[in-house]
Amino acid sequence: MNVLIKGQVSGSVKYWLYYIEWQKRRLPHSHILIWLTNTLRPNQIDDIISAEIPNPSTDKNLYDIVIKNMVHGPCGAFNSLSPCLKEGNCSKMYPRQFIKETQFATDGYALCRRRKPEDGGQTATVKMKSDSVVIDNRWIVPYSPLLLKMFDAHINVECCNSIKSIKYIIKYVHKGSDQGVFAAHSSNNCIDEISEYQAGLYISSNEASWHIFGFPIHNRFDSQTWI
Ligand SMILES: [Zn+2]
Repeated sequence: MNVLIKGQVSGSVKYWLYYIEWQKRRLPHSHILIWLTNTLRPNQIDDIISAEIPNPSTDKNLYDIVIKNMVHGPCGAFNSLSPCLKEGNCSKMYPRQFIKETQFATDGYALCRRRKPEDGGQTATVKMKSDSVVIDNRWIVPYSPLLLKMFDAHINVECCNSIKSIKYIIKYVHKGSDQGVFAAHSSNNCIDEISEYQAGLYISSNEASWHIFGFPIHNRFDSQTWI
């Protein structure tokens, strides 16, 4: 949050909000919403967010980080067993359309530039189990080059000027953990350890440590002027 807010990697920040959750495999995951002081124009978005494979001959480091962290799937024809597929279609809407210039869609989200190979877009060979497949810019999850180089992690960055994103993040702030179980037993009762383990599986050790140390799971600024 210091990098985003004090470092102003996307520009001066007016308000911010974040929420931390633990996903199904219990990896920590944060949803962050920041309001910028100045509205971003489509021509400014390309300086902050990219949805393209970097050119490995000019920035091999970024290319490696993007290929490792920011390629969706590939799913569909490449992998019919991908968990993102719902009735044969990708629930994350990949592969996305090629797009020559960044623009705002009607839903308020920015559609980042994704150039075709013939327009100068890069391609990359990625490993899938025993196979290798060639992907293009349609499979890249939008990212901040600066944040990726700092953290070498999956960090999806989107630009939005719609109320829809606010509703989405508020839902996350208030939904709480997926599941938590405890029970009191008398010493005579037989404890079914297997079913207890399965029922309590949604709380992981790193999540428990996070709470024991009192780390925040959500925070926001500025509560007086926000909403
Ligand atoms: Zn998919």
